[in-house]
Amino acid sequence: MNEVQFLNLKRLNQQYRDELVSAATRVIDSGWYILGQEVKAFETEFASYCGTRFSLGVGNGLDALTLIFRALIEQGKLSPGDKVGVPSNTFVASVLAISSAGLEPVLIEPNPKTHNLDSTSPGLLNALTEIKALLAVHLYGQLADISNLKKLSDQHHVLLIEDAAQAHGASLKGKRAGSFGIAAGFSFYPGKNLGGLGDGGAVTTSDPVLFELISSLRNYGSAERYKHDYIGVNSRLDEMQAAMLRVKLSYIEQDIANRRKIAKLYRKEIKNPVILTPQVLEESAHVWHLFVIQSEYRQSLQEHLSNLGIATQIHYPCAIAEQPAYSSSNLIAPLAKRLSNSILSLPIDPTLTLEEQKAVIDACNSFKP
Ligand SMILES: *Cc1c(COP(=O)(O)O)cnc(C)c1O
Repeated sequence: MNEVQFLNLKRLNQQYRDELVSAATRVIDSGWYILGQEVKAFETEFASYCGTRFSLGVGNGLDALTLIFRALIEQGKLSPGDKVGVPSNTFVASVLAISSAGLEPVLIEPNPKTHNLDSTSPGLLNALTEIKALLAVHLYGQLADISNLKKLSDQHHVLLIEDAAQAHGASLKGKRAGSFGIAAGFSFYPGKNLGGLGDGGAVTTSDPVLFELISSLRNYGSAERYKHDYIGVNSRLDEMQAAMLRVKLSYIEQDIANRRKIAKLYRKEIKNPVILTPQVLEESAHVWHLFVIQSEYRQSLQEHLSNLGIATQIHYPCAIAEQPAYSSSNLIAPLAKRLSNSILSLPIDPTLTLEEQKAVIDACNSFKP
């Protein structure tokens, strides 16, 4: 038995090789490489997939989120220094976006069973009295408790923004990630569920004003060539990545179906009293970007799996509040710190063979602390 890789991107993209090559050829031959037909077509297709009026291709997921906050400041809906709530166990980029837009992150501890914010999250109600915006992260591919978060943020006049970087296609009663808040940020980093062959990101929104603003901000603050209305940035999805993503988007539902099949098997077959498998919200459709288990014996479990040739990862080994970059802030989040010591991500690559899936299951079941 060969090693089970965590995510075999080569094998994954090989499935679409011919189509990727012909899309790349189309771009090379077009002679147009920035903000052209491919980006426009991808934006239309991605907005339609997410169920929003607009989508905008940008340089990466971090920029997508940062541009949303910057646009809300330009609009006067947020002011520099305003507080923005964000889950304490998210990927650092969620928090970097808030900080780099000149806003102040407020960490909110998640529900440890779902790893996401919900209406029972400790500190959420407290935070809602001081924050002006809430960045709901759909961590690991499962929607945060988005309908309750929307209700609560509306009641408190708090703007709701989504970080959907891990949740392309996740849905609640058919409504997809990216369509719940006033805007959402997506990442197309190669390892994401919709991954390019390089960096990429998108903003989705149904608000025409926000759409115009962000189209301008991503392009030097300019809607008309050499006329600059805002102090913008250069953060555009390029034609080549857009062409790659159009191919990948046409197969995303197939990839998600494969991830769901693997998750179902893991949840059914992993039976070890020292391993906790993830809790799934009944009414919402998980897209399984990551399959994150918990164990108080995380380190020896990871070693055991590694000895059996199974690669695992930790998302994330060091919580935001513990990061050197935030050491001078007074952020504290003991629950996120505790979670970071017990979580472990198993391989859930959509191209995993049945043999590989069984090897993961057997290795988990044979672990003894
Ligand atoms: C990947 C990711 C981002 C950042 O996306 P990049 O394209 O890598 O900049 C933001 N938030 C979350 C939750 C992510 O997983």
